[in-house]
Formats: sequence, structure tokens, C-alpha cells
Amino acid sequence: MTLRELTIQLADGASAVTIVEACLERIKTAEPSIGAFITVTAERALDRARALDAARAKGGPLHGVPVALKDNICTAGVPTTAASKILRGFIPPYDAAVVQRLEAAGAVIVGKTNLDEFAMGSSTENSSLGPSKNPWDVTRTPGGSSGGSAAAVAAGMVPVALGSDTGGSIRQPAALCGVVGLKPTYGRVSRYGLIAFASSLDQIGPFAHTAADAAVMFNVIAGHDPRDATSSTEAIPDVSAALTGDVKGVRVGVPRAFLGEGVDDAISSAFAASLDVLKARGAVLVDIELPHAGYGIPVYYLIATAEASSNLARYDGVRYGHRAALAAGDGLREMYERTRDEGFGAEVKRRIMLGTYVLSAGYYDAYYLKAQQVRTLLRRDYEQAFERADLIATPTTPTPAFKLGEKTSDPLQMYLNDIFTVSANLTGLPAISVPCGFSRDDLPIGLQLTGRMFDEASLLRAADAYQRDTTFHTRAPALAD
Ligand code: GLN
Repeated sequence: MTLRELTIQLADGASAVTIVEACLERIKTAEPSIGAFITVTAERALDRARALDAARAKGGPLHGVPVALKDNICTAGVPTTAASKILRGFIPPYDAAVVQRLEAAGAVIVGKTNLDEFAMGSSTENSSLGPSKNPWDVTRTPGGSSGGSAAAVAAGMVPVALGSDTGGSIRQPAALCGVVGLKPTYGRVSRYGLIAFASSLDQIGPFAHTAADAAVMFNVIAGHDPRDATSSTEAIPDVSAALTGDVKGVRVGVPRAFLGEGVDDAISSAFAASLDVLKARGAVLVDIELPHAGYGIPVYYLIATAEASSNLARYDGVRYGHRAALAAGDGLREMYERTRDEGFGAEVKRRIMLGTYVLSAGYYDAYYLKAQQVRTLLRRDYEQAFERADLIATPTTPTPAFKLGEKTSDPLQMYLNDIFTVSANLTGLPAISVPCGFSRDDLPIGLQLTGRMFDEASLLRAADAYQRDTTFHTRAPALAD
């Protein structure tokens, strides 16, 4: 069920308890084959649903709606692990800003979803608890790093979920699982209580079946928060009101030169067909250029690792989670070393080392500083493109969902999957992925639209208009249950 259908049922008198019970039942049957969740908070969710039913009159826009959260979003009293051994046993003493906002709107948190450790990855295979599976083909990845949230929505376990997106971690799994994923403009949604990966890139956003549902979620979670120093004070429009279906005259920029290499045929043809749909609705296609977009991957993997190496310094065995057992004679240094060696997985260690290297005295100018300079060039590319276009269209990913294990031995291949998504994070621009087709093996394909700073409304309007003329988002995977 979509969020919209569910809220209509709830408004018509369905009890939150009934809805939450149905959702928990679905989780029980689908979880064994999908593994979307790290923690299911069944008892808490039912208690909360009962309280909401008792207080029926005070309903917010998500009154009684079950929501799943990526497990890097802090929840007071509920373990939050970032899928890392180093946070085993960590129970946050406070709720993230988005959790407070969701609950104030009446949402019921039903659990915490699987991710790549500290959100570092594109497949959930870097989770210390093992990967989640793609509901469309359980031998394949749901994408990552918010793979659990995407899979939970795709498998009908929850109507909506939250993820975080540092280099594509909402849009890529959304594309691979056949759902909508929105990365808002940097600063739109408070990062207070989000476990930091790369602070100049991180942003929280929703998964849903439709752009209309994502719009509702956006309005609930977006807004200024003085507890996040990068939180924007820009006014938040009612984006649901912008969903008029009208895209007449909207200029959709297509960076043809950037779309050539390494893109699957199935992706190219679904992308071309999706442009035709927008055109038939009155949008105007224009050719644009993004000359520096090809540098996105190296720039992203320099900046993201640099910031991660700094952010992850706090996991020292003193303040949070795991601490290694010490032998007689061990001192503070051994405690730090052993804790971090035991607590972090291979990919996280790789990134801490890369990031430390690119920030080190002899290499800072050649790598980190250079990456920041190219980041500025990329931002200028987009500024110029937005003089000719109102939105920019690309595929979300170069391929449909790949097999579990297919890229785990080759980190570079894994990184290359992010070619179309990292630019929005490096520039701060909002971007959305919308289901736009299926491969011959019935694997979902995503269309990515990128908008101007703070213009989520235009993004959502175009995505919603597209969904009015297509049915890809209405197909559900046939789960063995
Ligand atoms: N796949 C990218 C990475 O591995 C992006 C991750 C993310 O957006 N959190 O860093």
C-alpha cells in the first residue's frame, strides 16, 4: 500500500494498531528471505499505536503510519549500530531530529534497517550483520548503503522509510529496488542525530512508492534546526501543493556526453523512453554539458574518505560501544588499536586509511585540495547547465541490481556504480530517483532528476507527473511467502 492509500484508510477509521499489526506480520513473513532489518521494535510500535488510537483526534499527517529508519539514525532507547561492530551495544540517549519530527507527525517507528557499515558502500554487503537481499531477486543486492530501507519499502513491509545519502545511498537502492528515493538539498533536513559519515555530503531523505508520498515525507522531515550548524533557514514550501501534473515548458537537460560509457543497454533504453514520457507531457528536452562530471568518482572518494577519517576518530573504545579486552601490561594505545581493529570492517578501515593519507601533510595539496577545486568546477558546470535547463535527467545507476558477491572483491568496480549519483552530493543539489522500467530479467531501473538548490518542488512535480503516465511503481515483487 502507498502512504496515500494508508492515510486514507486511517482517516476512514482504521486503527493504528491494525495497520501496525499488518505491517509487523508482513515483516515476519518477508524478513527471512530479505533481511531488511537490524532491529524490529514490535512492542514499542504496538504500544505507540495503542496510544495514537486513544488520542485519535490529535492526528498529524502521518498519524498511525509505520515507518522504518536506517540504523544510522539515532533513536532514544533503541540500539543504533550503523551496522558496525564498534557500535554494538550503543543505545542513544536521544532521538535524531528527524525521529522527533516523524513522531510529532504521528508516525510509528517499526524498526531500524540494514546498511553498509557507517553507510560506506553500494550494496549492504559491508554490513557487519551480512547483506540484505533485493526483493526482486534475492540473489542480488538491494543496493546501498540504505539497502534495508529500500528493500523494506519494495517488499511492502513499510509504506515509507528514511535513509541517508552521501554519494547516492538513497537514490541508488531506490533505483535497484523499484521505489522512489529523494535526496533533499544539502541543509534541508537536520543531520542532528545522524551518525556522521562525510559531513559536507550527508543528507537524510525518504523512500516511498510515489513522488506524492515522498513529498509528504519531505514536508514532515525538512526544516531549520539550530542543532545542526549546516541546517538551512530557507523557507520550506508545501511541496505536495506543487504536484499539479503540469510540466509544460519545463526544460529537461540531458548531458548526452556524460551518458556514454559503461551504461547497460537496458538502462539506456529505459532512460530514452522515460524522456519521451516527459516530452509527451509537454517538457522540453535540451542538450547540456557537464564537463567535469566524469571526475565525480575520484573527487567524491577523496572528499568522502577524508571527512570519514576525521568523523570516525571518535570511536575509540572510551565513549561509545565496543571496547577490546586488554591483556596484562596493555596501555591506552593498545586499547585504541585493538578496539578499532576489532570494531571496524575492511571497507571502513580502507576509507580511514585513504582519508588519512589524502589529508596528510605531504599529500593534502595534491589530493584533498585538488578534489575541492574540482568540486567547485563541478558546481559551476551545474550552475551553467541550470541556465539552460530547469531539471537535469540521467539514469540513476549504470546497471540494474548486481549479484551479491559480484563486486565485493573489487572496490573500484563497486565505487563506479555511483557515477551518476555523487554529483548531487558534491554540489548539494536535490535529486530524486523514480522507477522508470525493468530489465529483461525483471530488475527495476531508475530515472534520476536533479534540480536547482532548494527546488525539491520542481523535482517532485516532474517525478509525480511522470508517475501519472507510467505504472512501473505499481508493480510489486513476487516474494516467496
Ligand atoms: N556508495 C557510496 C559510498 O560507498 C555512497 C554511500 C552513501 O551515500 N552513504 O560511499
